Amino acid sequence: MDLQKTNVVVIGAGTVGAMALWQLSKRDSLDVVGIEQFGRVHSHGSYVGESRVFRTAVHEGGTYVPMIQRSRDLWRELERESGRSIYDEIGALSIAPEGFPDLVTALGTVRDFDLPHRVLSTEELRAEFPQHRVQDGDIGLLDAHGGGLRPEVAIMSALDLAESNGAKLFFNTPVIDIEERVNGVVVRTTQGAWLADTVVVASGSWSTRISPELNDLLRLQVLGLTWFMPKRPELFAPDRFPVFLRDAGSVHFFGAPSFDGYAFKACTNPEWPVFRDVDEVPTSHTREELIRIGQRAAELFDGINPEPVRQSVHHCAYTPDRLPVIDRNASGRIVTLAGLSGHGFKFAPQLGEWAAKLVKEEDATVDPRFALPAHLERLAKTGPYTGGGH
Ligand SMILES: Cc1cc2nc3c(=O)[nH]c(=O)nc-3n(C[C@H](O)[C@H](O)[C@H](O)COP(=O)(O)OP(=O)(O)OC[C@H]3O[C@@H](n4cnc5c(N)ncnc54)[C@H](O)[C@@H]3O)c2cc1C
Repeated sequence: MDLQKTNVVVIGAGTVGAMALWQLSKRDSLDVVGIEQFGRVHSHGSYVGESRVFRTAVHEGGTYVPMIQRSRDLWRELERESGRSIYDEIGALSIAPEGFPDLVTALGTVRDFDLPHRVLSTEELRAEFPQHRVQDGDIGLLDAHGGGLRPEVAIMSALDLAESNGAKLFFNTPVIDIEERVNGVVVRTTQGAWLADTVVVASGSWSTRISPELNDLLRLQVLGLTWFMPKRPELFAPDRFPVFLRDAGSVHFFGAPSFDGYAFKACTNPEWPVFRDVDEVPTSHTREELIRIGQRAAELFDGINPEPVRQSVHHCAYTPDRLPVIDRNASGRIVTLAGLSGHGFKFAPQLGEWAAKLVKEEDATVDPRFALPAHLERLAKTGPYTGGGH
């Protein structure tokens, strides 16, 4: 088989792959190739579904704040370079009972990092956000640098920019496997093979098929999306209704305002098990699941029709502690970014920038906890991810 030569091959043109391609294509004297199994911006990836929540006041504590702040700058840069609207800074509102652990962590994060925010009492929430049926004892945290991202537009923009900077992109071209040799890495696809100095594996939920060393670490969590029609859609428009996270009892909802003018997004996940391969993941909610989600949504939001008017089911690869895998192997020829664990869209531009650094700069480093050996060491103590993430 003839081998075509290049400096870098990025496997997967989804969230991380698109951001890595955009960043790599800005580097001088680098031939960059991107290979995607489906078409340009498709409906199968972990990024699908109109909007993604961006928040700086993360419930997970301070690990991610610097990554998110850098990403905020890069989202703006992507908007400037592409001329497209990708990030609406409309605020992110967390509502939960006072003392709820995630909210306490988020409040600690805003204070530690001096993030612009407001804390709202139950009465203030009721007055300012009547769309939410707030329960006695609920309080709110409004993250002023939070908002909504448009994932499909973001990926299209990054891929278009990468291409106009000279990257060569190949779609509908599944990568079958990779093989490291002394002079590079062979990337075999259904349409031919490449020999690359370095390979970036950014294949999301499919990563274990390319990188079996991730088999024990990654599990696929199912995540469902549902949209509901409010009686007064104008109250759920982006200028009145921030993206949100709600915790009430054991129920967690997240969502976004109405971008289409008739329905807003409010999602909660049934108790789905975790899976090992994308082919095992359910492709739709059941009728019972939709009825139950609608009942819960009607308890938490005012004046909505409880039947979801749109719904879809997706997947994302999780690690047990939800830290991403960002790894460069011993030879430095294979860079892997995986396990974004249901919260990685917001900081994907930072991952793209790190991918480019790990490819190009020998002394580049990232948080050592993200390296594969560190993950495997923790995995030996904790065991694999078993579910419950959102
Ligand atoms: C429903 C849902 C809601 C979410 N909400 C949020 C949120 O509000 N905020 C947030 O920050 N995060 C959120 N996330 C998480 C975030 O969207 C994901 O973590 C992120 O999109 C994962 O990016 P990825 O690059 O790893 O995977 P993907 O974006 O899926 O990209 C992987 C790409 O690799 C390609 N590929 C795979 N194998 C091959 C192969 N062999 N050959 C060629 N190409 C291949 C795939 O086709 C795909 O295009 C959510 C996730 C889901 C599923």
